Amino acid sequence: MKAAIAAGPLAAAGALAAAGAGYWLCMSSYSQAFGAFPYRGATGRKVVALTFDDGPNEPYTSQLADFLGERAIKATFFQVGRAVLRHPEVTERLVREGHLIGNHGFTHEVTNYLGRRTLTEDVRKGQAALATVGVRPALYRPPWLLRVPALAPVLREHGLTAVSGEFCHALEVCQPAPEMIARRALAKARPGSIIIFHDGYDGHPGNRASTVAAAKIVVDQLSRDGYEFATISELLGTPAYQASA
Ligand SMILES: [Zn+2]
Repeated sequence: MKAAIAAGPLAAAGALAAAGAGYWLCMSSYSQAFGAFPYRGATGRKVVALTFDDGPNEPYTSQLADFLGERAIKATFFQVGRAVLRHPEVTERLVREGHLIGNHGFTHEVTNYLGRRTLTEDVRKGQAALATVGVRPALYRPPWLLRVPALAPVLREHGLTAVSGEFCHALEVCQPAPEMIARRALAKARPGSIIIFHDGYDGHPGNRASTVAAAKIVVDQLSRDGYEFATISELLGTPAYQASA
């Protein structure tokens, strides 16, 4: 009888633990359960890679391009195909100025990232959108970092390598004060870090002023600390683009 009474909370705790483990396996920055998913470069040098997901999203992506240009810093932008079709001139500018563009899906809608058929279509359409601005990425970052068993074979078919990273701040989506985002990002930064910012919101328009201001604080502080900035290609020693078909 006692055991039966205990089973309720135990079962609930078990379900919670399973959900936690599932989350960790499929969505954490660090799990390698579904194939190689680098979240940091293997270097002792003071160098970090700045990455920006979910754009282009104006005017924030252009503000970042202005700032990075002033500092002669090259970053990596994982862009959403449908947003690229909305602002192709912004992506073209990033490419022209030496930033790298990776595929971050076409729709960024969760239902498309669970099964092989929809995932294949989303990855393919993301590549097609980026082809309209003249690039054929070799780097892919899954939306929400969500990995499912179908991801590795789909990426292989498309010549893509998955790239992880560490979120600048868990609440960046709510756009807290820039200092708050920057403080958390700086606390995590170390040689080889890949920092994830969001210049867009799942490929939708949205205010990302806090992110832009936070990125500036992070760059200024890391520069004072003697850090340099690299693209994902430079940091991981992996090509950004595939040879044209
Ligand atoms: Zn995203």
